[in-house]
Amino acid sequence: MKVYSFPRGGLDLGDSTAPPAESSVLTFLPIFSVIPLSCHSGGRVYPLVSAGDIVREGMLIGRASGSGAVNVHATIPGKVVRKVFWKDSDGLNNDALVIRLEGAFEKLGRKIIPLQWTGANSHDIQRIISDYGIVEMEGRGRSLSDMISNYRRLHDKMTLVVRCVFDDPWLAADYVLCKERLKEVVEGCFITAHACTKVERILFAVSSREKDLGEKLLAEAGQWDIPSSLVLVGSRYPQRNKRELELSLRMYEKDEGFDLGPFMILGPAALAAVHDAVKLKKPVLERYVAVGGSAVKEPQVVKARVGTRIGDLVEQCGGFAGTPAKIIAGSPLSGRVIVSLDEPVEKACYAVYAALKAPAGYNGENCINCGECRAVCPLGLDPQDIYKRIITSQPKETLNCECHGCGCCKVVCPSALPLSDVILEKQLGM
Ligand code: SF4
Ligand code: SF4
Repeated sequence: MKVYSFPRGGLDLGDSTAPPAESSVLTFLPIFSVIPLSCHSGGRVYPLVSAGDIVREGMLIGRASGSGAVNVHATIPGKVVRKVFWKDSDGLNNDALVIRLEGAFEKLGRKIIPLQWTGANSHDIQRIISDYGIVEMEGRGRSLSDMISNYRRLHDKMTLVVRCVFDDPWLAADYVLCKERLKEVVEGCFITAHACTKVERILFAVSSREKDLGEKLLAEAGQWDIPSSLVLVGSRYPQRNKRELELSLRMYEKDEGFDLGPFMILGPAALAAVHDAVKLKKPVLERYVAVGGSAVKEPQVVKARVGTRIGDLVEQCGGFAGTPAKIIAGSPLSGRVIVSLDEPVEKACYAVYAALKAPAGYNGENCINCGECRAVCPLGLDPQDIYKRIITSQPKETLNCECHGCGCCKVVCPSALPLSDVILEKQLGM
């Protein structure tokens, strides 16, 4: 089977401190849960409970207001003890409700009779996805209901892409989820397609080294009513980036003579969440998270309640092997620095990386003009030249590049120049 990949640049990533992508471990329930009310994709969430109130597992405790916001649910039963505020490393304000564990669980361990959704109309399915606060489960956690509305409004036909591209060892949690919940991922994909109404084909975009997983996904999809195909893509980072994945899939489209229309790209965690909301009437209570890095004693993929403190999560992985120099939510290449161990696992958090030694920063050396950064940039940019212009304050228009922040240039630079950090900061106007 042909393997489709983006034409230039990129890196083969490996990290011996990442947890093995084998199976997941269920974490203990947290005594305190910190349920975020902030939506970094926009909109506001208004709390429906306050300190002293008793909440049930899965109860709606924050109502979304406006585009970009999503409803928020209690992930454990208990008593609301306070509201907390903090500023994160991106300078964004966050607020959250702290719940102390009390009382009985309504969903944990209970047998739930699945609902039949095939007779439901697309608007009813979308309303359930909206009510249960389902998000993209990565990046800034965009509202899936908003994404569906936009696609339905703007396009006459489209292709739903299931992104099972594991080009970074820190995607171990998504890989394990995909293996352990394969049926739910596939059914979630067809539920989403029905909510969108205009989906004419489903593509399973799977890393070529996970061909077996791709074939299982395709076999499972065979029982549903929309044509689906398996497309093997490269495993080189950043293959899963929207731009690089689209480039590869357009090559496939051309080879096959299809007209696929625009792509809506979703990962396995979001699709499993759609399945749980529509079939099991469950909001996102848990998240598969890869916890590791040199500062963590027992790296593993855990199933943690959303709202679990990062500190509690690390404790469940044997604790710290030493004082961490840096903790990151997400991949070390593209994640966000954690400022406190009290920050919670959010719906979009797929990894927690804690390193004993901070990733290399600027070592004081100047550029030795080796050309490595140019060679790995998938966009064909000259990162060294852009970086030089920024630090020497040359006119802004010369910095108007399309860097998507993959970080490849920074990883390979022998002088450890913070190339992508500086370019992205400039682009974001920080
Ligand atoms: S310049 Fe931007 S797109 Fe190019 S390698 Fe660096 S971070 Fe990636
Ligand atoms: S990789 Fe670093 S040292 Fe090499 S050309 Fe780019 S900026 Fe200069």
